[in-house]
Amino acid sequence: MNGEVIICGLGPAGRAVAHRALAQGRAVTVIDPRPDRVWTPTYAAWADELPGWLNPAVVAATVREPTAWAIGEHRLDRAYQVLDTPALQRALTVDGARVIADRAVEVNTRRGRVTTAAGQVLTGRVIDARGLARSPRRAEQTAYGILVRRDRLDPEPPTLFMDWRPDNGADPGAPPSFLYTVPLGTEFLLFEETCLAGRPALGLDELRRRLDHRLRARGIPVTGAEPVERVRFPVEGGRPGHGRFGAAGGLIHPATGYSVAASLRAADAVAAGATPWTARARAVAGLRRAGLRALLTLPPHETPVFFEAFFGLPMPSQRAYLSGTDDLAGTLAAMRALFTALPPRLRRTVATAVVGGVRP
Ligand SMILES: Cc1cc2nc3c(=O)[nH]c(=O)nc-3n(C[C@H](O)[C@H](O)[C@H](O)COP(=O)(O)OP(=O)(O)OC[C@H]3O[C@@H](n4cnc5c(N)ncnc54)[C@H](O)[C@@H]3O)c2cc1C
Repeated sequence: MNGEVIICGLGPAGRAVAHRALAQGRAVTVIDPRPDRVWTPTYAAWADELPGWLNPAVVAATVREPTAWAIGEHRLDRAYQVLDTPALQRALTVDGARVIADRAVEVNTRRGRVTTAAGQVLTGRVIDARGLARSPRRAEQTAYGILVRRDRLDPEPPTLFMDWRPDNGADPGAPPSFLYTVPLGTEFLLFEETCLAGRPALGLDELRRRLDHRLRARGIPVTGAEPVERVRFPVEGGRPGHGRFGAAGGLIHPATGYSVAASLRAADAVAAGATPWTARARAVAGLRRAGLRALLTLPPHETPVFFEAFFGLPMPSQRAYLSGTDDLAGTLAAMRALFTALPPRLRRTVATAVVGGVRP
């Protein structure tokens, strides 16, 4: 395990593991067609998910108690942090690594061998962090967001982790979407209408219309000239194990689309040669996939009912389900408690979806 570490892909997962491998004194080669691509998405995470080694200066805003609306309002007793994405990218420096600006075309993590498009062959310990390609077979998350200046908002709306209230003008029978609202530092608030997961997911034009409708209904001043954030990425399809990491390695939580914090947290161990995919973690991944099936099966008008039950769970259960990558007992207990809290009419739908193929 002391040879060179070869990391394919310099997204958040690849960059985090390269950064930690360098911090551990290892020889590192990174391969990405655009190694200097500047990240633009707004990343956020629960504060307790982020690793201690991460420079706190990468946090753009901390919200002590974000709000979730399902049927009713829930104050979540769990700090939520919005990251300063350029600062995060800079903090995950790969200075000292050999950087190859090319595509890895053959990646064999078992044999420890990578061939690039230019025909270069590299051998060592290979980590595949090439992310996930879009495919019609993969459920996706989509969102359309705008940045509104905070000094134009009086009063300023609260941070909304999820707001499923039906004031976005959508047909009650149409696939649902929720509003996500977070501060981006001192200047802006991001308002994002989000389709949590869909196969296919809602289109960005529809989400833009819904966002516009919702913000106008709430008296948020919208000019149409605000900076925009567009979101579309697969939330399923990664495969755990064998040197795959990040989204490619199944670290995306299929029910939230989050993976950045999980990758940051696992980066040290993976850089040192360990795998995050213990038997328990694989079982948790199977349960999470079952949770996604349940979400995709829910009748649209029942989605807020489902989240009403979820946000009514004690915070340790919510945390176990959302972040306990290898907390099998906690995940199972959370799912059991959620199932019990659902109205009987939904239990059958959820049970059928969950039992329809748990593959730990
Ligand atoms: C606007 C937006 C907002 C988001 N917000 C959040 C959030 O708040 N929290 C969160 O956790 N997640 C969020 N996500 C999702 C998050 O971006 C992804 O889950 C995350 O980027 C996955 O990281 P990754 O490094 O595994 O893969 P990627 O980010 O997809 O990176 C893969 C890298 O591999 C490179 N690559 C691809 N093919 C090859 C090849 N053949 N050879 C070499 N390199 C290759 C690519 O160039 C890329 O740099 C958001 C996504 C978007 C679009």
